[in-house]
Amino acid sequence: MRPTLITKAMLDCPVPPNWLDSVQSREAFSWQGEATELAGLPEGGLNLAYEAVDRHATGERQHHTALRIVERNGGCRHISFAQLSVLSNRFASVLSTLGVQPGERVFMLCNRGLELFLGVLGGLKHGCVVSPLFCAFGPEPIETRLRLGEGSVLLTTEALYRRKVAAIRERLPALRHVLVYDEQGTEVQPPPGTLSLQSLLADADEHVPIARTTADSPALLHFTSGTTGTPKGVLHVHGAALTHRVTGKYALDLHPNDIYWCSADPGWVTGTSYGIFAPLLVGVTSVVDSNEFDAERWYCMLEAQRITVWYTAPTAIRLLMKAGAALAHNHHFADLRFIASVGEPLNPEAVWWGKDVLGLPIHDNWWQTETGGIMIANTVSMAIKPGSMGKPLPGVEAAIVSLNADGTLRFLGEQEVGELALKQPWPAMFRAYLGQEARYRQCFAGDWYLSGDLVRRDADGYYWFIGRSDDVIKSAGHLIGPFEVESSLMEHPAVAEAAVIGKPDPLLGETVKAFVSLKSGFTASPELHDELLGHGRKRLGAVVAPKELEFVVQLPHTRSGKLMRRLLKARELGLPEGDTSSLENPS
Ligand code: ATP
Ligand code: MG
Repeated sequence: MRPTLITKAMLDCPVPPNWLDSVQSREAFSWQGEATELAGLPEGGLNLAYEAVDRHATGERQHHTALRIVERNGGCRHISFAQLSVLSNRFASVLSTLGVQPGERVFMLCNRGLELFLGVLGGLKHGCVVSPLFCAFGPEPIETRLRLGEGSVLLTTEALYRRKVAAIRERLPALRHVLVYDEQGTEVQPPPGTLSLQSLLADADEHVPIARTTADSPALLHFTSGTTGTPKGVLHVHGAALTHRVTGKYALDLHPNDIYWCSADPGWVTGTSYGIFAPLLVGVTSVVDSNEFDAERWYCMLEAQRITVWYTAPTAIRLLMKAGAALAHNHHFADLRFIASVGEPLNPEAVWWGKDVLGLPIHDNWWQTETGGIMIANTVSMAIKPGSMGKPLPGVEAAIVSLNADGTLRFLGEQEVGELALKQPWPAMFRAYLGQEARYRQCFAGDWYLSGDLVRRDADGYYWFIGRSDDVIKSAGHLIGPFEVESSLMEHPAVAEAAVIGKPDPLLGETVKAFVSLKSGFTASPELHDELLGHGRKRLGAVVAPKELEFVVQLPHTRSGKLMRRLLKARELGLPEGDTSSLENPS
């Protein structure tokens, strides 16, 4: 058995951590104090893009590389803060020339590349609300989101436009302008009804007035992952800059000389909050890579780009684990000093795998599209309890609650399982579910935002994820979190990934069924089937262990890499599959 704690010595930290957790440091923290580090607009107000780029573009970091863009041929393009400022100004100027008004919604269907940054930052400078989508979406999810968000501008590649948007264009009357480009930088022949980004940028102004937005002005529209149902449109404001900056410093421990890589797609909130804003706000260099996942290539990236801080997701880590340790051992990650993960619970096996294979444990953290930024984290200086998502960050007040019948909250104590609640407001808190006002209001009870996730807190203040309230299984009077069962199955050497659902049972309420994909080198067999069920019983006890187990080649994931248990359940029970617009590899 592995130890339950990974302790850290200060010697493990090549640079002094930005955040040293103590009662004193928590007491000393205030959002107002941190806000003094924001520049604010020269004429008053706050603009996320100005904070992220322009404040550095005139200061001592103007020539520092903001983006190191890895091209498809393996070459790199360096964009300094000063260059990014001018280029995003040009995009803002394009919007102005087109007659786009502040407040209008600018959508991006872009891979990770310079144009994505220009669209997001330029859109914000013009006072628009920006909304990046997954490039891998098919026409239907694109149409739904553009329609719901009333997108009036779309930035995309010529190829994506022809393949995915041209056919739905007629059904999107609000979409007035489509700007297209070519990823290789060659001049495009814009399809009918579109404009060439390159030509527009060539004629655009380098100096534009930045919209006088404030901390409360809408800035960003992001769609949730659709793990539990139809994706919700979540609206964020420019004031989120403060959360992004503070969490970039304290949760990701970003320091001025870091080379940072966020491997999340911009269609998922992580790819925006931490793929675009947080590193820019702190003024560090981001490596931007648009290529698809490939274990060998990712190891080459970490090594050759000399990444120091890497923010990734459990699904990617599990894929690396599946590819085998030998591949990693061909590489040397001398500069890597901090790895963090978000999106799903991180199985203890994965935390340990990081330590054993990459030389660093992986630091889990928790947040949601709705929170806009990291709320609970294992920070660099904290001892890690593998399987725990860590402790609330400074400025975050968390509680575990259950809802009384009269709508009031009961606050639960140590080890009790309840819903994770966060004291509102915090700077990056969402301000609306687009078109669903009542649903937004239902997320709040008095001063508290209710996350919909069930957790417990231990005696040291660490939070442990039990499951989403929709995924938790009730069997013979016990509350079973799928994560616990899945993690224990993953301890078996044959298991690459596991997903667990509850099946209705007349006697027990529900029974646990597991779906398992195997690591390369292992084959499904009746013997392995029984061995895994036995492994479960031994580790978890008969009540919690799966009663049924099915081998699958691949488990269903959302495009942001989350297990879609609801889909497995619907298929198992012969129920309608519901919204599958965010499903990866729909068949
Ligand atoms: P939808 O709301 O549409 O069902 P979603 O909740 O998956 O989709 P996101 O906002 O991308 O959409 O994901 C946030 C959720 O992901 C959290 O509420 C939580 O359930 C899960 N999550 C994120 N990070 C962690 C983590 N470190 N540990 C456990 N769960 C996590
Ligand atoms: Mg959610």
